[in-house]
Amino acid sequence: MARDAFKQLEASLLFCPQCRVATPVRKRLLLVLPQGNKFDYLCSQCGSICGDKIEPERPEDRRLM
Ligand SMILES: [Zn+2]
Repeated sequence: MARDAFKQLEASLLFCPQCRVATPVRKRLLLVLPQGNKFDYLCSQCGSICGDKIEPERPEDRRLM
């Protein structure tokens, strides 16, 4: 069965500063902020943080900054 492989394919590729290549990343909930949830993207090879992202919890969220 390829279910596990499919799960890995869900991860997006990000450039890892440690590996110096684009690697599959794991998403990890880091913080819950008033404007949304902040996620870290961890390299699946070395565990370094490749990036982060804030996902608004509400669809109608607007950027008022
Ligand atoms: Zn890495």
